[in-house]
Amino acid sequence: MISAQITGIVIAVQANYYWVKCDRIQGDLDQGDRNSQSSSALPQATLLCTRRDRLRKMGQKVMVGDRVTVEEINWDSQRAAICQVLPRQTELDRPPVANADQILLVFAFAQPAIDPVQLSRFLVKAETSGIKVQLCLTKCDLVSPDIQQQWRDRLMTWSYDPILISVYQHQGLETLRQRLSDRITVVSGPSGVGKSSLINALLPQLKLRVSSVSGKLERGRHTTRHVELFQLASGGLLADTPGFNQPDLDCAPIALAHCFPEVRSRLQQNSCQFSDCLHRDEPGCGVRGSWERYDLYLKFLDDAIAYQTKLRQQTEPEAILKAKTSANGKINYEMRLDRSKYRRESRKTRQQSMQVMKGKVIDWLEQEPE
Ligand code: GDP
Ligand code: ZN
Repeated sequence: MISAQITGIVIAVQANYYWVKCDRIQGDLDQGDRNSQSSSALPQATLLCTRRDRLRKMGQKVMVGDRVTVEEINWDSQRAAICQVLPRQTELDRPPVANADQILLVFAFAQPAIDPVQLSRFLVKAETSGIKVQLCLTKCDLVSPDIQQQWRDRLMTWSYDPILISVYQHQGLETLRQRLSDRITVVSGPSGVGKSSLINALLPQLKLRVSSVSGKLERGRHTTRHVELFQLASGGLLADTPGFNQPDLDCAPIALAHCFPEVRSRLQQNSCQFSDCLHRDEPGCGVRGSWERYDLYLKFLDDAIAYQTKLRQQTEPEAILKAKTSANGKINYEMRLDRSKYRRESRKTRQQSMQVMKGKVIDWLEQEPE
């Protein structure tokens, strides 16, 4: 007999269905199973689950990577219902993955060549998630060992130890597999660097698994933001959908320095005495200056400040707008008129202010949603 509830991990989500890979079952096996095999040798079942109504009413969403408890298990039809989502350790938005342990950032030595500014932008974006970042440089078959070594040395000064890969020459894949084992990994990087080739090399069973899942759900796999976790032979899980291709630096200016690991260690040693320092021209700042990416840091800081300013301006119109839902369900926005504010203004000034406000509102409404 197997107990009524078991735990597992959500490996795919489509519409209101969740594929849950069950943990290896340790207890409550019948005597025959207990005698014949250790629990780790038992196969891990995958169940097609719905979400209990109670979770839906609570607004509890279920993401790929979530650890969950399932009940009402029907082993014959491989169906069950998720009754609990365990607390998340991490949560990524793009791709939507819970509990990712690391981001594997992929760049190529050549075709396209490494651009240190673009590389740093991706690195910083990945670091803003707070999740560990692994860097991987592909296509090493296209450059000399000297160039490979120069880049490795340079990146070590940025506090990254890159894995050098050639999918064509099967180089570096073993080291990569070791770094991916027993972890949930999300791949990221610009297009053309070899991410798909790398994922295919790591997951030769991908096509097989994809067709079985899509077949049962009778839906195409590549719906927007669809993501699925695939089991690596080494025990880890890899998200098949790469994340952020064009990263925006949406980091708070004050947090930016923490996204540079070569500075993080200095900050931990309190080398800057000011807790709110932006490490620009503040006198007595111990972080400013002596590291390769400092000028890049200043450039990104300007971007981050500009982003924050834009964000503030965008949220402002909300204060002067009132949303009204019409009979056909469409939302209209109306000016929120604070009469006391305009009481003493002449009619002309009032009209001018209204024009300015309308302009702001139109700008705001025309902005593409994120
Ligand atoms: P993605 O856009 O990041 O998913 O990149 P792809 O996997 O589609 O690869 C882009 C191009 O790089 C393709 O033409 C691949 O054949 C090529 N490529 C991938 N890996 C390697 C490699 O290890 N060495 C070389 N020379 N080319 C590679
Ligand atoms: Zn400082």
